[in-house]
Amino acid sequence: MRYLPILLLSSVCLFAADKPAAAPAPAAPKYQEGSCCDKATKRGDKCNHPCCVKAAKVAKVCDHCNEPVKK
Ligand SMILES: [Zn+2]
Ligand SMILES: [Zn+2]
Repeated sequence: MRYLPILLLSSVCLFAADKPAAAPAPAAPKYQEGSCCDKATKRGDKCNHPCCVKAAKVAKVCDHCNEPVKK
């Protein structure tokens, strides 16, 4: 019965669709408008700040330079 868990999981996912269970895979890193990374990307370059390079290595966006938008 190796397929049963998968079937259960997919039906659970349908019911849990309105819950932010897992973060959706980001299509592209979201840089804050006007940040060093944003400017570098617009130049067709990559930001070379050590903190940003480090974040990029783990597929993240440096949150020192790209502060999340406050609500
Ligand atoms: Zn940067
Ligand atoms: Zn940074």
